[in-house]
Amino acid sequence: MGPRKPWVGGNWKCNGTKASIEALCETLNKAEFNPEQIDVVIAPVSLHIHMVKEKLKAGFKVCTQNVSKTGMGAYTGEIAVDHIKDFGLEWTLIGHSERRQYYGETDEVVADKVDICQKAGLCTAVCIGEMLDERKAGKTTDVVKKQIEAFIPKVTDWSKIMIAYEPVWAIGTGVVATPEQAQETHAAIRKILKEKVSAEVAESTRIAYGGSVSDSNCNTLIGLEDVDGFLVGGASLKPAFLDIIKSAL
Ligand code: PEP
Repeated sequence: MGPRKPWVGGNWKCNGTKASIEALCETLNKAEFNPEQIDVVIAPVSLHIHMVKEKLKAGFKVCTQNVSKTGMGAYTGEIAVDHIKDFGLEWTLIGHSERRQYYGETDEVVADKVDICQKAGLCTAVCIGEMLDERKAGKTTDVVKKQIEAFIPKVTDWSKIMIAYEPVWAIGTGVVATPEQAQETHAAIRKILKEKVSAEVAESTRIAYGGSVSDSNCNTLIGLEDVDGFLVGGASLKPAFLDIIKSAL
């Protein structure tokens, strides 16, 4: 873990019922952490946000899993930055590989969303990562570079950007990146930020790893120099998430 404030996110995806979420919040409330020293960010289904915000103890931050590239208005089915801010939420997640794969979220759309979040002063976790065939073809750095370069011009306040490196082949598969693969790509992302933005931004921007993080691999991964935390899917719905938070303290 580097000198940056750790960031641990739970992406609950399209999961949970009122009853299961209530039980999960009770479990998560056993976590002990100081929000001054770590960001613990929970992203439930939007309909559950109000309830999760009420149930989770102070210190947890509640986040949306997506944001509209448009503002409030005649945009049926969307959630605008204005709604997120009106609810008092600090964070949103964008560019998750499931959004890119199933809902046409291209690099250009991600850039538009970064733009609207930056203008609203909303903290944004931007997800990037390569597909398995891209890794096998040795194209990982090229892929993440293209994904990052697409949104760089939109960023005016880097303190509100967190990059989640999530190799697509590791998401929900149980196949976690090796420590060497994770460190190599996190370092490559930092180098891209240094070359394309500045040394200061490269040094201060947090990069979280995501992809089959569990209570059994988090301690090794958090020991890596350029890994500043985790974005967790499956394990964030389980008590294992408590150990994952603990690993980053
Ligand atoms: C994710 O959805 O961002 C994720 C990393 O999922 P999982 O931890 O289940 O691989």
